[in-house]
Amino acid sequence: MFRSREVFTQSTSEVKDMPKRVVIIGGGFGGLEAAKQLSGKDVAVTLIDKKNHHTFQPLLYQVATAVLSPGEIASPIRRILYKAKNVEVVLGEAKGYDLENRTVKLHDSSEIPFDYLIVAAGARHSYFGNDDWEDSAPGLKTVEDALEIRRRVLLAFELAEREAILTGKHKPLNFVVVGGGATGVELAGAIAGIARQALAKDFKAINTKESRVMLYEGSDRILNSFAPDLSERAKRDLEDLGVEVFLNSFVTDLKDGNVKASDEWIECDVAIWATGVAASFLGKELGAETDKAGRVLVNDDLSVPGKENIFVIGDMAHLKQKNGDLVPGVAPAALQMAQATCKNILRDLKNEPRENFEYRDKGSMATIGRNRAIVEAGSLKLTGFIAWLAWLFIHVISLIGFRNKLSVMSDWFWAYVTRERSALLITGDAEQLQDALRFLEAKPIAEPLPKKARRKALK
Ligand SMILES: Cc1cc2nc3c(=O)[nH]c(=O)nc-3n(C[C@H](O)[C@H](O)[C@H](O)COP(=O)(O)OP(=O)(O)OC[C@H]3O[C@@H](n4cnc5c(N)ncnc54)[C@H](O)[C@@H]3O)c2cc1C
Repeated sequence: MFRSREVFTQSTSEVKDMPKRVVIIGGGFGGLEAAKQLSGKDVAVTLIDKKNHHTFQPLLYQVATAVLSPGEIASPIRRILYKAKNVEVVLGEAKGYDLENRTVKLHDSSEIPFDYLIVAAGARHSYFGNDDWEDSAPGLKTVEDALEIRRRVLLAFELAEREAILTGKHKPLNFVVVGGGATGVELAGAIAGIARQALAKDFKAINTKESRVMLYEGSDRILNSFAPDLSERAKRDLEDLGVEVFLNSFVTDLKDGNVKASDEWIECDVAIWATGVAASFLGKELGAETDKAGRVLVNDDLSVPGKENIFVIGDMAHLKQKNGDLVPGVAPAALQMAQATCKNILRDLKNEPRENFEYRDKGSMATIGRNRAIVEAGSLKLTGFIAWLAWLFIHVISLIGFRNKLSVMSDWFWAYVTRERSALLITGDAEQLQDALRFLEAKPIAEPLPKKARRKALK
């Protein structure tokens, strides 16, 4: 149970001269920025997150593909906010609210009262009603997801090598990535890089370069939030790296080891899900109107209709821009929403009128692989090496903490120069590992073939 304290047993608005209590759910891009904005202000802030760390999601795919280690892209929230004297951090999972009494309910039934509430619990990928597919094709959202994907990818090579050693043969590996947005493209490009370069010399019985990496996209182009010529360039870059790109191909079924796309079943050793958005259930719990993805239809100042003291920001918010497009689910939007919300809360406290939120689009970028990226900012379009350098620069400066910046830069430098990956560990023992990848039909350890017979069989 959460330790009960006076401040948590009564709404601060009822206590004279006590600063208003702002509760923030989520320590991701939006929630963390809100806590930083309110640091040192005349409010008492409680940030609740179910994880003890903030994750820099744009680089998760590099953990999933063994370039970086988790600690380089995730930082303890408590540490990030240690200087913010008026901000306390609570490790806990928000389960719902008592809106009448203005409290947030946690997983252990404890309640945290608020005067203002900022809900920034983000979104996960959606399996379009087929949640059971997650086991066969994990998505990428958390550090745990990234480690699971890394485990499956590395294990696929290990089991293939073992089978080749024991039996003298193994079919080339098949990797399937579902979804041609930035995450899908980055994952597919990076897996091709592992197979073609990073692991090629480490495996002796299998030829990792023969692995197939297939990317399935339901629409007629990948990275479809970019201009069509940039999408086309990204597709060519991916194909140069050895990725097979299938457009207008919806994945309609998934069974362990098989993916059904465009009415055809494709055998695969590892499948990864990189499409669909499902906002946190905490939006619906507010009783507000939500869209199909569960995002809350917020007012122009990001507050919830009929609940002026509750704001929903980041990936959970559904708000149209002046041009009719939705504010996109990207990190800069979450940061800007947090800034605008905190300004409005502080305006309220000074009895000043609130201002509406306006999203400033600073452009988008996606990387495809070594020396290849695309950047679009207004009329500026960059591709190839220059775009890739811009991508590296923006991501390094956006990382939290000097140590992380330094460590990521040094890992990138090493990977660039040597083409090696520095985080190739698979943890767990061999039996557990095989269970985790139960759809891979690795042969049980038996007597290895004599060396001569093995060489003959592998010819
Ligand atoms: C793989 C990947 C790559 C991406 N790449 C890019 C990119 O290159 N550029 C870009 O701009 N954007 C990118 N994005 C999108 C960007 O990360 C999101 O738009 C951004 O994180 C949204 O911020 P948020 O604060 O709304 O949610 P998040 O950053 O997701 O934070 C949500 C927080 O809420 C916590 N939480 C969730 N539920 C609860 C609960 N019930 N109780 C307590 N805490 C809870 C979570 O632990 C998390 O810390 C990427 C996203 C992913 C998944």
